[in-house]
Amino acid sequence: MKSEIVELRKLIDGATSIAIVAHERPDGDAIGSLIALTLSLQNAGKQVTSILADGVPNRFRFLPGSDGVQGTFPTDCNLLIALDCSDVERTGFESKDLPRSVDINIDHHPTNTHFGLVNVVDPHAAATAEILFELADPLGLEIDSCIATNLLAGLVTDTIGFRTTNVTPKMLQVVARLIELGAPLAEIYELTLNRRSVIAARYWGCGLSRLEQEDGLVWTSLTLEDRQHVGYSGKDDADLINLLSTIDGAEVTVIFVEQPGGTVKVSWRSRADLNIAPLAEAFGGGGHHQAAGAMIDGDLEDVSKRVISATRAIFESDSGMSR
Ligand code: AMP
Ligand code: MN
Ligand code: MN
Repeated sequence: MKSEIVELRKLIDGATSIAIVAHERPDGDAIGSLIALTLSLQNAGKQVTSILADGVPNRFRFLPGSDGVQGTFPTDCNLLIALDCSDVERTGFESKDLPRSVDINIDHHPTNTHFGLVNVVDPHAAATAEILFELADPLGLEIDSCIATNLLAGLVTDTIGFRTTNVTPKMLQVVARLIELGAPLAEIYELTLNRRSVIAARYWGCGLSRLEQEDGLVWTSLTLEDRQHVGYSGKDDADLINLLSTIDGAEVTVIFVEQPGGTVKVSWRSRADLNIAPLAEAFGGGGHHQAAGAMIDGDLEDVSKRVISATRAIFESDSGMSR
């Protein structure tokens, strides 16, 4: 990590216009990390633009600095940083639409492809936000209460409220420090994990009404028609997956979200001892041991059949995915 930090400092010191991008369909870690690094580099006197292909969803708009996030790149950027992206496609932009190739790649996915000129990838970190906290001091960046709030939002959401197996005493010490720096834990927890719109609840109802269960496998789907029917404007599952994964006996939970244009977004969640990242990778996606996803071409029925049969094989094979 030391040599990378020297490289990072050199690249950042030499840059006048910095663009930072995080992944498409952004989660709390993508958004929190993006805003935190943007604010800290701006406070250090840099010109920084933060970009999300899909913008900031409403429920993350309470984060200080979220109104500065844009949808397009500046033309004059001379340093490009990617956050929380396991590969360059995860930015949601085609390589030809990026202003330059990625200079700095900071991420915590074990499936990261090291696509940057400098790569700071720590699969043991619970969130990209944790890596950014560790980098602040060596990079000479200050963490004020706004930055702390964004970093804590990343940690709270990626650990689903500190209940994933990658929560460590060290990470909780970072959390304690962020609270000391002014991050409001209870408010962040409430607004990111505990509160949802009545429309999202109705959308959940669509998925729950066709819930399937077979041995340790629990799955369901959400269709374009569901979204139109209830008036849900997102393209995601409104976090229904986290509810499904609380069901008794659900060792692996899968959700299929139909997308416009004949693709399906698949999300997997698994209990602690089942690594589903290789399965997501086999379908062209990626992720972590307990949470992974992929975007798969095909209609909903066809994709769900293929994915459920491949997921079922995890239970049948002792030597397959590492248990
Ligand atoms: P999700 O199911 O979208 O909540 O994502 C769970 C985890 O898998 C997250 O860490 C994502 O970053 C990762 N992930 C989701 N979709 C993809 C994809 N298409 N490619 C690579 N990683 C993904
Ligand atoms: Mn993420
Ligand atoms: Mn993350």
